[in-house]
Amino acid sequence: MSSALLNSKLVKAQASRLGFVACGLAKAEPVAESFAIRYRRWLDLDFCGEMDYMRRNVEMRLKPDLLVPGVRTIVSLAMNFMPSEHQPGISLYAQGKDYHDVLRERMQQLMQACGLEGRCFVDTAPVLERYWAWQSGVGIVTQSGLVAVPGYGPTVFLGELFLTQEADTYDEPLPDSLPEEVGWAKVCPALTPEGLDARLCISYQTIEHRGPLPDNLRLAATFYGCDRCLRATPQFAESHPTAEPAFQPSEALLQMAPDDWQNLTEEQYRSLFKGSAIKRAKYDGLKRNIERWLKHCKS
Ligand code: SF4
Repeated sequence: MSSALLNSKLVKAQASRLGFVACGLAKAEPVAESFAIRYRRWLDLDFCGEMDYMRRNVEMRLKPDLLVPGVRTIVSLAMNFMPSEHQPGISLYAQGKDYHDVLRERMQQLMQACGLEGRCFVDTAPVLERYWAWQSGVGIVTQSGLVAVPGYGPTVFLGELFLTQEADTYDEPLPDSLPEEVGWAKVCPALTPEGLDARLCISYQTIEHRGPLPDNLRLAATFYGCDRCLRATPQFAESHPTAEPAFQPSEALLQMAPDDWQNLTEEQYRSLFKGSAIKRAKYDGLKRNIERWLKHCKS
């Protein structure tokens, strides 16, 4: 490990050059007790549904040093994903290429450009990414549970660098937002005062859940993911199209109409979603969602 302090201004300048819209540095200390209690309570309530991985490595999520021994600094990064046009059946975040690949590549470039030592994570390791985005001053955690970045709203992907170097300067969390005048229970029953109940969430059901959809699940707007709480978040007013071409939908995806979705073949699916995060739902899962969506579109 190098003994030189990490130059925070250099990291931020390079992050901006690589297309990140926000970058902040936090000390890699254990997660604040109030967040840890909330997280444990969320698990106790079974709000994670079938996402058993959320139950594993709880201590590792709360103590970064257990994930990356010797970690001193956590750099949180945000990239704007708001597409300029979109295919209405699909959540805004999934219109373009798989964000895991796009962010990981940029983060590796950032580590190389700044001589950083450590590891990078994009939604694939036991990391409380929203907590670190808040702790490093990248954004605020809204009442809907999303992270909103000033000037960009909640339409951002997050990634983290766990570095073994100490930084010359660390960022402070942003002040809490004003109380939001949104009746979240009316926006969606999955948004409870104790956090998101994934079992009631369309996004979870259409992406993570395997097997038949619950009988009462109504897919009126999208068949992959759900943007209702994203759009209802007051900071969504600050969202604007990204300059990142990777997050724009292809022409072929834009042109898909309800009848095309109904007749989607496996070959078309593979070609439309090559390099897309939508492959997570698999062909059968997507067809299951489309069937339910078409039923409600036509009713
Ligand atoms: S993604 Fe949709 S279903 Fe899930 S919490 Fe938000 S509004 Fe509710």
